[in-house]
Amino acid sequence: FTDRKGKTPRRPGQRKQCNIEKDPVGVYCRIRPLGTEDEECCIEMISSSTIQLHAPDGLKANRNGEYKETQYSFKKVFGVNTTQIELFEDVGKLLIEDLIQCKNGLLFTYGVTGSGKTYTMTGSPGEGGLLPRSLDMLFNSIGPFQTKRFVFKPDDKNGMEIQSQVDALLERQKRDSQQKADPEIADMISSDDACKVENVDEDSCYSVFVSYIEIYNNYIYDLLEDAPFDPIRPKWLSGGTPVRNNEFIPPQSKILREDQNHNMYVAGCTEIEVKSTEEAFEVFWKGQKKRRIANTQLNRESSRSHSVFTLKLVQAPLDADGDHILQDKNQVNVSQLCLVDLAGSERTNRTRAEGSRLREAGNINQSLMTLRTCMEVLRENQMCGTNKMVPYRDSKVTHLFKNYFDGEGKVRMVVCVNPKADDYEETIQVMRFAEMTQEVEVPRPVDRPICGVAAGRRHRNQAFRDELSPIPPCELVDPADDQMLPRLIEVLQRRHHTRQMIIEEFNKTANTVNSMLQQFDSQLSSKGNFLHDQQSKLSEKDKVIVSQKTEIERLEKKSKTLEYKIDILQKTTDMYEQDKRTLQHELETRDHRLHRELSDRRRIEQHMQGMVTDTRLKWEKECTAPAVHPIHRRSHSAGGEKWVDHKPSSNLDVDTVMQPIIPNAIKVSTPNEKALSKCHKYVLRHQELASDGEIETKLIKGNVFKTRGGGQAVQFTDIETLRQECPTAPSRKRRSGSAERPAHVKNKVIVKTMLILSCHINV
Ligand code: ADP
Ligand code: MG
Repeated sequence: FTDRKGKTPRRPGQRKQCNIEKDPVGVYCRIRPLGTEDEECCIEMISSSTIQLHAPDGLKANRNGEYKETQYSFKKVFGVNTTQIELFEDVGKLLIEDLIQCKNGLLFTYGVTGSGKTYTMTGSPGEGGLLPRSLDMLFNSIGPFQTKRFVFKPDDKNGMEIQSQVDALLERQKRDSQQKADPEIADMISSDDACKVENVDEDSCYSVFVSYIEIYNNYIYDLLEDAPFDPIRPKWLSGGTPVRNNEFIPPQSKILREDQNHNMYVAGCTEIEVKSTEEAFEVFWKGQKKRRIANTQLNRESSRSHSVFTLKLVQAPLDADGDHILQDKNQVNVSQLCLVDLAGSERTNRTRAEGSRLREAGNINQSLMTLRTCMEVLRENQMCGTNKMVPYRDSKVTHLFKNYFDGEGKVRMVVCVNPKADDYEETIQVMRFAEMTQEVEVPRPVDRPICGVAAGRRHRNQAFRDELSPIPPCELVDPADDQMLPRLIEVLQRRHHTRQMIIEEFNKTANTVNSMLQQFDSQLSSKGNFLHDQQSKLSEKDKVIVSQKTEIERLEKKSKTLEYKIDILQKTTDMYEQDKRTLQHELETRDHRLHRELSDRRRIEQHMQGMVTDTRLKWEKECTAPAVHPIHRRSHSAGGEKWVDHKPSSNLDVDTVMQPIIPNAIKVSTPNEKALSKCHKYVLRHQELASDGEIETKLIKGNVFKTRGGGQAVQFTDIETLRQECPTAPSRKRRSGSAERPAHVKNKVIVKTMLILSCHINV
């Protein structure tokens, strides 16, 4: 339980979590014999590690015969005939060996009330349980190497101090004067059963301290405390009733503290140094007695309390002479083994507890419930790699042993079962807890470091002392004493011889040590050189690393700038892309429009072409037709209109051949091109059938001129109207009446024609 500083359990935190070796909690099962042989048995041991549970007959009937046989496996199962020594050899021995090797252990018994927990832990006279046997084995092993009393002294902070020889002596004298034997102690173990650890380090000194506490209703009581009654500050019961004078003084509850290594201990707990099994057991008995009295006086249910008996082994190396203990607190090692007899695991309703006891009972079960929860969480954390908080602090029992699971140690549990039918249901619960606990792993305690002083010094020095035996007392009165002198000579010769031998041995050893030292020296210097080499290499590598780092930084910076640039370029590209799209779109629209305009223009052109062709054809026809009947002429003048006879004007070189015309149709004719280029005059002829049946011909005259674009245009200047009788129409009486119509009625049509012609020539 201790590190080199003499403190109890080592903290795991300092070591790397991943390298920790772990062992599962060792769970054993002990079946006690039935009270009477004719009782119904519901547990069967089917192998050295497995038991089978059968539901009792009554329960089967309740469940309509429906039941299951369940099997549970353990590290080992101890049947009803197992003796106490057999159990100890399997369960307890290793823990004592570990204790001497400075490793901590925790051993507890678990089970229903009456299942044999106390029998297993304590036993009875002649049939001592794990506790007396552990003590016996410990003292058998370290007996001759124990320190004198009071060399070690508890420091109230869960550590141990070394007292000066004088102080230790004074305390010893004080104690001896007070010592009185307790006749009550029975002999628990027969001497045949003596166990012993063989490889005890003989160059160390040992001392054993024991403490004994009881946890009842989640209060901790020191069972070894000699509590003087304080009349000013009366003690209080856990229930709250003050105690009057002359009455039994109940122990005051203690608190748990954490030492500087974060290990839990009961603050101010009495630790008694013991030098033999008998003495240790006497102390245990004293505590038992106190416990018994307290239980009776305070009307407690003893099966509801947990008891913890702690064996603390302190060891420190001998100094180089092998005579005294090395006065160095850092070399003191403390390890401990806790032997725990837990309260009955049955549920409250089974114990007919009433009133104030019910609460107590509930609390006890609460402690065991917490123990169960802790195991569950631990198992889950270990199996699933989770890091759930383990509720150690929820009860004193789990809080006290927190470090066995968080720190390191060896944990073993003996599950006690009574195979009787009444216990069946509770036993199943016990089995479930036991099975689960087996899956919890506890960090394995590490080996303690070797102390730097040469081994074997205790015996060597002893031998040396024996060899240098004193010269026997003799009185020489006569120089010729032939009796005394030869004896003296012999003794002196022997001494001389021994001295010579020792000197030789010393020289030999010195030589060996010297050569070893030289070897070490050369090794050291080569190691030093190697180290130097490595260091210079390392510094070179360091330099390289530094330069690489700066290079990396530079490149990183560069890459950052480039990234920035890329970013900007990307943005620009995006912008351009956007522009491009807009322009493309615009282009498309324009293209589209252009296309439309072009097609419009082509249509117009075609239309115009058609019209021109039509007109030309008509003109050609008209110009080539022979002259016909005389025609009337109507001429415009500034004053108004009058009808005149008219012939085609001579300066108009136009063939005005009239042909019978489709009534009401507009006929337009143009002069042929030759004529047009010659005379620069332009005549449009328009014929229609008037309502009175005459054919009305209009000659629209104009001048042709060249346009700036290189084409030709016509400007109309005069309209001549000719009327003639239609050869096909019936004769009419009224000729001129209807001709009175004003010429401008038809002007619209003519103007239109004019415009179109003008256009055509321009193109
Ligand atoms: P617990 O402590 O679990 O309540 P005990 O240890 O007090 O139970 O045992 C109840 C009784 O049974 C005691 O009288 C004890 O002597 C007896 N007993 C228990 N286990 C055994 C066993 N393995 N062999 C013989 N007797 C036993
Ligand atoms: Mg008991």
